[in-house]
Amino acid sequence: MSQVFFFSYAGNKNPLTGIRRLFERSAFESMIPEGKPVAVKLHMGELGNIRYIRPVFARTVVDIIIKRGGKPFLFDTVANYPGSRETKEKYLNTAAKNGFVEASMNAPIVITDDMDDLRTIQIKNPIGGCKLKEIKVPAEIFKSSCLIVLSHVKGHELTGFGGALKNLGMGCVSTETKRAQHAVNAPIFAAEKDCNECKKCVDACPTHMLEIADGRPRKKPSVECTYCGTCFFICPSGCWVWPPGSREKLQIYMAHAASAVLSPYRGKVAFVNFIQDVVSYCDCAAPSGNPIVQDVGIAFSFDPVAMDKASLDLIDKSPVIPGSTKIMPPDILGKMHHTSSLVQIETAEKLDMGTTEYKLVAV
Ligand code: SF4
Ligand code: SF4
Repeated sequence: MSQVFFFSYAGNKNPLTGIRRLFERSAFESMIPEGKPVAVKLHMGELGNIRYIRPVFARTVVDIIIKRGGKPFLFDTVANYPGSRETKEKYLNTAAKNGFVEASMNAPIVITDDMDDLRTIQIKNPIGGCKLKEIKVPAEIFKSSCLIVLSHVKGHELTGFGGALKNLGMGCVSTETKRAQHAVNAPIFAAEKDCNECKKCVDACPTHMLEIADGRPRKKPSVECTYCGTCFFICPSGCWVWPPGSREKLQIYMAHAASAVLSPYRGKVAFVNFIQDVVSYCDCAAPSGNPIVQDVGIAFSFDPVAMDKASLDLIDKSPVIPGSTKIMPPDILGKMHHTSSLVQIETAEKLDMGTTEYKLVAV
């Protein structure tokens, strides 16, 4: 059984006090290596998104690391879709607009892409039909001898729920590996839908692989799809759909990638889940929706499986905000996105990343 330390927001308590208390109570502070780099992984938000982790939360974690003699840096990878984080330059610009700069964080902001050194990690003994053979991870992250993963808990169009496992499996890997995972959910044109030939998908496709033929878009076989999903999201008529079962497959792939990322860090990694601003869509979306349950609190664990399972359970117990959704617990986020969020958690458990059996320790 794993411990999940939990700071509840009930009673108007200060979240910054909560972060400090979680680090003290878990004794993670003593694991921070003196004089060595410490990576703080987080999503710094798409431009226009307002639900990402507040900069002051990340700054509080940075201050804790510095106080213990560590050398923190904030870390993320570029996105696999056109937008405000698709290149390092754009991401740094967006991070700055969202409040993450060295001056405010007291730590450098490091964004990597596939031009940086990458480390290849083999996937051993895949389960659940995962066909990933290897993943690539920016070598930058491995300069750190200990890793702190800050995750905003929210919904996701494809994985139902996004927390610590998603932050590891999708957020810590190269663009090539993101694409290898997203290949399972390449959007398909639904023949029964009425395409009005507006060409929005054609014009927005970053690889220019779409063209209109016979009154509908078709993929040019000579051009490669990046599985960015732009055609799906941009179509005003809902003509693009995800392949059946792809939401579950993506969760299975993501859990494998998360396990591989974590393999060099066993025993030197901590997860902090911010269970607040629990909206339907992820921090890549702008807008990502309004909260669907009352803000819950902050959780901390050394076990990402227990961490995400506890977060889902805490969301289930939090009162639904009237008027936000008619869907009822359990797993509101999964049901909202026509999947079960447990797929990623149970796959990660089978991959020996942790356990769904946990004990909540109030701090
Ligand atoms: S076809 Fe769709 S998923 Fe593929 S690259 Fe173009 S926009 Fe992205
Ligand atoms: S965006 Fe939708 S409606 Fe417009 S051309 Fe593409 S498939 Fe047709």
